[in-house]
Amino acid sequence: MDHEEFRRFGHQLIDWIADYRRECAEGTRAVMARVAPGDVRARLPAEPPLDAQPLEDVLADLSNIILPGCTHWQDPRFFAYFPSNSSLAAVLGDLASTGLAQLGLNWQASPALTELEDLTTDWLRQMMGLSAQWSGVIQDTASTATLVALLCARERATNFAAARGGLQGCAEPLTVYLSSQSHSSVEKAALLAGFGRENLRVIPVDDAFGMQPQALREAIEADVQRGLRPCAIVATVGSTAVTAIDPLAPIAEVARAHGLWLHVDAALAGAAMLLPECRALWQGVEDADSLVVNAHKWLGASFDCSLYYVRDPQHLIRVMSTSPSYLRTAADETARNLRDWGIPLGRRFRALKLWFLIREQGVSGLQTRLRRDLAHARWLAARIDASAQWRRLAPVPLQTVCVRHEPPGLDGDALDRHTLAWARRINESGQAYLTPAMLEGRWMVRVSFGVETTEYRHVEALWALMQSAAAAD
Ligand SMILES: *Cc1c(COP(=O)(O)O)cnc(C)c1O
Repeated sequence: MDHEEFRRFGHQLIDWIADYRRECAEGTRAVMARVAPGDVRARLPAEPPLDAQPLEDVLADLSNIILPGCTHWQDPRFFAYFPSNSSLAAVLGDLASTGLAQLGLNWQASPALTELEDLTTDWLRQMMGLSAQWSGVIQDTASTATLVALLCARERATNFAAARGGLQGCAEPLTVYLSSQSHSSVEKAALLAGFGRENLRVIPVDDAFGMQPQALREAIEADVQRGLRPCAIVATVGSTAVTAIDPLAPIAEVARAHGLWLHVDAALAGAAMLLPECRALWQGVEDADSLVVNAHKWLGASFDCSLYYVRDPQHLIRVMSTSPSYLRTAADETARNLRDWGIPLGRRFRALKLWFLIREQGVSGLQTRLRRDLAHARWLAARIDASAQWRRLAPVPLQTVCVRHEPPGLDGDALDRHTLAWARRINESGQAYLTPAMLEGRWMVRVSFGVETTEYRHVEALWALMQSAAAAD
């Protein structure tokens, strides 16, 4: 492809994306993809083309084969999982990143990449009301950030066992504390970091699904009694199923008393901290050791863009750095080398999309949108609370409403069948998309607000749809 062809197809592709996004906003397609497993593959040749193919054909297949196999996360009627906004400004920032094709191996390999990452992570720190004690870096996902946090916790507790016999040389097993509402990535990170399932402690939660600090304290003390070595606590602000809030202040106190690492998973909820009125939800966060916030969820920075903040960057660097001679440069003493702030050596210019987003929206623009989404959740919660047959299953501190339709006389497995049936009816209608989830052994439906294009009228239409879908069962 020469540069003029690139220009021509590039304009065409931008037009294609603009049309797609407009159609998404208008809600013209079924929100959930209507394909069966294997359908997309079956329409594509199994073997790679031997000869060059015209890009026109590739773009045609994009429309005719790929698009029908997509679920539309940017559709205003998408209320499933969690919002994964990809703001149009961020789309352009991401395109600029790919076009510039920078690889941030060290500062010298791309000074702008390193310094814009410094700047944007610091902007977001300020936007969330965090103190200047925090240093940030962009990781791909919260899963990776939590793995990095637990590796750092492990190395702090063992005084850098990795430099000796590693965990295999440790006399006392290290233990990690999470709650029954923690994201599955926490358990995965703890297992991958070598702690072992036997050394994970799932702390019970209270009526609002937050971790019970007293139960945490007792579990830690019991482990100390047994000769184990408590190492890390992972607390969640805004859990995945019900956006539960673990009380950070008392948890941090327990962490401090026993010298444990405290990692805070605010993957979804971090965005809400742009709003000063939400910050009480993570009171105590300043006493944590590490924190993860996904800018690629509610905020709009396009997947993947996970911000990882630490209180002690020197410790992170010590755990993550290896310095082969070909990567050393004269600037090493004076500039950040972000390869030492995480697992991969290579690094994309992810800060560009965040920078485009923050500049194009302004802090106030982002705040207005987040407040609108919180109001949508409160509106639906109020409708549910006022309806005899509907039950809200958890508090609504953020943008997720957990709900069940409970007609008289229906319970147990029959109620589960009813819940799954009305949710399926909505999803198959194409008019909205919601995800059922298990809560305390029973099915419920999560309504997760926050897609950039969702307006009040979509929320009203959803409530009407929920009522008719539940009545039709
Ligand atoms: C989404 C989410 C995660 C996982 O995020 P990834 O970036 O996909 O790894 C972890 N924890 C919470 C609370 C989340 O909401």
